[in-house]
Amino acid sequence: MNWTRGKIIGRGSTATVSAATLQESGETIAVKSADFHRSEFLQREAKILSSLNSPHVIGYRGYQITKESFNNYNGEATTYNLLMEYAPYGSLADVASKNGGSIDETRVVKYTRQILLGLEYVHNSMGIAHCDIKGSNVLVGENGEAKIADFGCAKRIEPEITEPVRGTPAFMAPEVARGERQGKESDIWAVGCTVIEMVTGSTPWSGADSNDPVSVLYRVGYLGESPELPCSLTEQAKDFLGKCLKKDAKERWTASQLLNHPFLITKPDNEPELVTGLVTNSPTSVTDQMLWRSVEEDRPSWW
Ligand code: ADP
Ligand code: MG
Repeated sequence: MNWTRGKIIGRGSTATVSAATLQESGETIAVKSADFHRSEFLQREAKILSSLNSPHVIGYRGYQITKESFNNYNGEATTYNLLMEYAPYGSLADVASKNGGSIDETRVVKYTRQILLGLEYVHNSMGIAHCDIKGSNVLVGENGEAKIADFGCAKRIEPEITEPVRGTPAFMAPEVARGERQGKESDIWAVGCTVIEMVTGSTPWSGADSNDPVSVLYRVGYLGESPELPCSLTEQAKDFLGKCLKKDAKERWTASQLLNHPFLITKPDNEPELVTGLVTNSPTSVTDQMLWRSVEEDRPSWW
């Protein structure tokens, strides 16, 4: 498959994501790239993504290893590239920031339902926990539907922790903060945090006195604190978040149970998709001059 790299559309902790054009069809795809020697997690992500097939998970289009020369690099670099379906509206975090910071409740309900449909499939049909659900890892497809992406932290669901905890501290459940267990229940805690992020436009704990990662993990894991709920929420929304943010993972609702919660079933799902004005500069043009910045500059979002 031949493709031409376009402009950078995202830079995360481990890789750089560019738009790209398939030479034969002219179709736009997204390519997540990392220096081959630092691409262990990207390769693992590609393997997981290749096994998934759901309208609420970003589509896999293959992988390629390329040798490319970049403006700021003298010579050729070997690059591992994960090829994906392109999500023209970016992530939920991008949608919120382009929408003045937050997302309205009707759309929050729709995205939450779609995230849970994706998780129900990933958890129950595939036996995988995502382990890094948050606004910047959920993308919005061309029909305005939420699609789970960034499976770089995902792992097989096991009864006990078998590998180190990974993910983003502000979205971690108490049992994850204590290093005891990371599985489908902790993804549900992160869904609650993502709802808070969509409603407020800020990640949980960002208003706390001390929101450094160590302090947040201590407060969640050992002091039994939960992220603050926005006071603008309806009682139904608060009840829904209560089920996601149950401190005891065994009491936390599952994706299937939450899909039947009144917060998600009492509102119609037929509002216009991403009306003009919500997103100002999408789809992203891929004609801009190619840019490249080394993944060396990246700051890890987990520890
Ligand atoms: P990382 O593992 O480095 O966090 P992500 O896979 O989360 O990388 O991608 C980083 C950002 O790139 C996302 O938050 C989003 O803004 C953008 N992005 C990633 N994949 C796509 C895609 N398929 N379509 C459009 N934008 C994407
Ligand atoms: Mg990410």
